[in-house]
Amino acid sequence: MTLPIVAVIGRPNVGKSTLVNRLAKNRQAIVHDEPGITRDRVYRQAFWRTHDFLVVDTGGLVFNDNTEFLPLIREQAMTALSEASVAVFVVDGQLGPTTGDYEIGNWLRQQKVPVLLAVNKCESPEHGLIQAAQFWELGLGEPYPISGIHGNGTGEFLDKLILHLPSSNKMFDPEEINVSIVGRPNVGKSSLLNAFLGEKRAIVSPIAGTTRDVIDTIVERKGKVYRLVDTAGIRRKKNVEYGAEFFSINRAFKAIRRADVVLLVIDAIDGVTEQDIKLADRIIDEGRSAIIVVNKWDAVEKDAYTIYSYKKNVMNRLYFMEWANLIFISAKSGQRIEKIFPLVDIAVKEHRRRINTSIINEVLEEAIRWHSPPTTRQGKQGKIYYGTQVSNQPPTIVLFVNDPKRFNDNYRRYIEGQFRQQIGFSGTPIRLLWKGKK
Ligand code: GDP
Ligand code: GDP
Repeated sequence: MTLPIVAVIGRPNVGKSTLVNRLAKNRQAIVHDEPGITRDRVYRQAFWRTHDFLVVDTGGLVFNDNTEFLPLIREQAMTALSEASVAVFVVDGQLGPTTGDYEIGNWLRQQKVPVLLAVNKCESPEHGLIQAAQFWELGLGEPYPISGIHGNGTGEFLDKLILHLPSSNKMFDPEEINVSIVGRPNVGKSSLLNAFLGEKRAIVSPIAGTTRDVIDTIVERKGKVYRLVDTAGIRRKKNVEYGAEFFSINRAFKAIRRADVVLLVIDAIDGVTEQDIKLADRIIDEGRSAIIVVNKWDAVEKDAYTIYSYKKNVMNRLYFMEWANLIFISAKSGQRIEKIFPLVDIAVKEHRRRINTSIINEVLEEAIRWHSPPTTRQGKQGKIYYGTQVSNQPPTIVLFVNDPKRFNDNYRRYIEGQFRQQIGFSGTPIRLLWKGKK
């Protein structure tokens, strides 16, 4: 079977061959003589998750003085595109959009093949988003910040890329929802997992992770597939001679990184501990959505008000996570555990949500009207020009302002609060990037 082809396109020096080398790792360059494949280019075999594909570097697209493609090169690129399942258009994030990029972009938009825009040389995560945001102007959809040299962002990018490869080749489904169950030892993580699996309601299938030696557990509810990430490691724990601390922190951190949604399990008897706070901090640093799951609710003596005061206590301790939904369960009796799934769905949806620039700016205008930005001691006032959402998972909004230093924490929290009040984002952290004029 011929493997699907990914064509890499862009001006010279943007980092195409660096990216191709990264994708193909040390796999041999191959020259195919299968029908339908052009012979005069070098194809490299690559894979991501369970997809195998060929990558072809089309060579730099060069322009003459009239910013027209040189005809021969255009022809080559055309041929490469005609056989590709998806094109990766690589641009230079440090340089910003150039005339050449616009030319290639215009031309690509007329082609039938789906195009993914890779903004290369974006080594810094925060700055990278801003660098990438400039390329929305090319009109080719979301620009993905990556670094071909260091690998930042390439995983996420490849997850998007494989969505465009033929499905016969597809075993890993990126539409699955990755759910990680994390918490201190003994809070009831394994019990919760077992309760999810229950009898017959769940499909249990061990799937070896492609990049790491982990086993995930798949459960299905209402036709949706949830991948319980890395929980096998947690289950295995008891037979292994590592310290509990090693698992509670390292494994949990890894599981958080892989999650769409984290279930932060808290022991109702102990309440929120320092370790729980550490995990919550990490969830926010990683920009994951989360649900606070208070387990062992059966073991708490309670009256009609307990749940409210308990909830208040938890949220006081985890005030920086006030966006997260909270649920009280018993893994032992099964109480309310099925109610976790709808909360997961909401968190995922909000985590992936995209908001129109016009709505963002309406919220900003309204917020500023109620409370104008602060004035520094030197009498300089902050000004917000406009905002735009530059990415999701988690929703990230860049605010273009005159000078970020003029906005204190209070005002920043106020603006974030306004976004939450007006737009929601229940269950997910959001990021606001305050960007000054150069
Ligand atoms: P190509 O002509 O598009 O194939 O570009 P190359 O892969 O040969 O890279 C061109 C230049 O950009 C080289 O000097 C690379 O070292 C540099 N480069 C490539 N990728 C990155 C990256 O991710 N970050 C940075 N900072 N430089 C890069
Ligand atoms: P893990 O270390 O987080 O995986 O925790 P386990 O699932 O192994 O549970 C630790 C202990 O808490 C076990 O003795 C469980 O029986 C108990 N446990 C777990 N969930 C519940 C619950 O909902 N209620 C009560 N009362 N005990 C529970």
